[in-house]
Amino acid sequence: MLVNAKEAVMEELFDQYIDQLHMSCMCKRCKEDVLALALNAVKPQYVTDESKLTYIKAELVDKQKNTSMLVTLAEAARKVNDNPHCENK
Ligand SMILES: [Zn+2]
Repeated sequence: MLVNAKEAVMEELFDQYIDQLHMSCMCKRCKEDVLALALNAVKPQYVTDESKLTYIKAELVDKQKNTSMLVTLAEAARKVNDNPHCENK
């Protein structure tokens, strides 16, 4: 199993803070665009086993350390809000 731990963490943060990101559109395309932008802005952190993923998630979802990822996520949400690529615009 090869997985980008940052992807798992970013998805978790997104679910957790979606109300605070003030997305003007909540369709699948816009959500994926936000995640794609946010993930392109952070360095990937690949792991090969589930136990490491759980550990990294716990570490990154920790309130102090997730702040910079949350800022990245908020910035990505703002960009998608300003320029949505879906059909609802
Ligand atoms: Zn949309």
